[in-house]
Amino acid sequence: MVTPAPAYRGRLAPSPTGHLHLGHARTFWVAAERARAAGGTLVLRSEDLDAVRFRLDFAAAMLEDLHWLGLDWQEGPGVGGPHAPYEQSARRPLYRAALERLHAAGLIFPCTRTRRDVLEAIGAPHEGAGPDDEPVYPREFRPPAGAPLPPLGATIGVNWRLRVPDGEELAFTDGRLGAQRATAGRDFGDFLVWRRDDVPSYQLACVVDDAAMGITEVVRGDDLVRSTFRQLLLYRALGAAVPAFYHCPLLRDALGERLAKRHDALSLRTLRGQGVTPAELRARFAAAEG
Ligand code: GLU
Repeated sequence: MVTPAPAYRGRLAPSPTGHLHLGHARTFWVAAERARAAGGTLVLRSEDLDAVRFRLDFAAAMLEDLHWLGLDWQEGPGVGGPHAPYEQSARRPLYRAALERLHAAGLIFPCTRTRRDVLEAIGAPHEGAGPDDEPVYPREFRPPAGAPLPPLGATIGVNWRLRVPDGEELAFTDGRLGAQRATAGRDFGDFLVWRRDDVPSYQLACVVDDAAMGITEVVRGDDLVRSTFRQLLLYRALGAAVPAFYHCPLLRDALGERLAKRHDALSLRTLRGQGVTPAELRARFAAAEG
């Protein structure tokens, strides 16, 4: 007997750290189109863990902007659904349970090095900002394998990192980019799962949620391909099924620079104020390469 493929479940996972930008909007539009074409369900999850950067007014504006653009989701903040809550800030117990599992399995270690220590040790400047910008963690900073782990404690005050299997080659087939490969310990190193300000890392929260919400395909920007390899290790460590991945090209401006949130002129709000219509934007997204 053939087991039917699970119904398509996609997600939009915006971070309410600023006004929704054209570049992100295109990725979300692609995600929504893929869910629609598959006759699937689209989930909206607000990635609002970062209390410093997160602002309530941005979260409301983000949902409003996505609706204005014509995107619709069947589960999410305000809509509800079987996997509520859909705000990461309300899902901390799930992340904590996953952290405890990694701790019990001895797969993580505490790290008191600063970002500057790491950058000095690798002797290279590191540019970029975002969830995917972690430099390769120096091996000499790692405690020896098998060293007893201190307890996590109720409140976490150090960084906890996943010890990656050095030299292991990881692979997945991307829906748009085709075969992808990376080597643990070379292309990415021991990465953060929990921060010393007691906030789960993007990598951990994302995997816990995509698994718990039954997401079958993750559509996101191709700046996150390296994160996908890190996340493959977390799926394995947590015994969760790995979804399919589809990484979209990021829209670039006329100078070839990635559109980023700091280009305020290209926020959906600004364009809307200038009289740009959702239909015009969707046509522009459909015409963009990829
Ligand atoms: N929250 C991330 C963003 O807004 C997306 C992360 C993901 O799709 O996995 O860029």
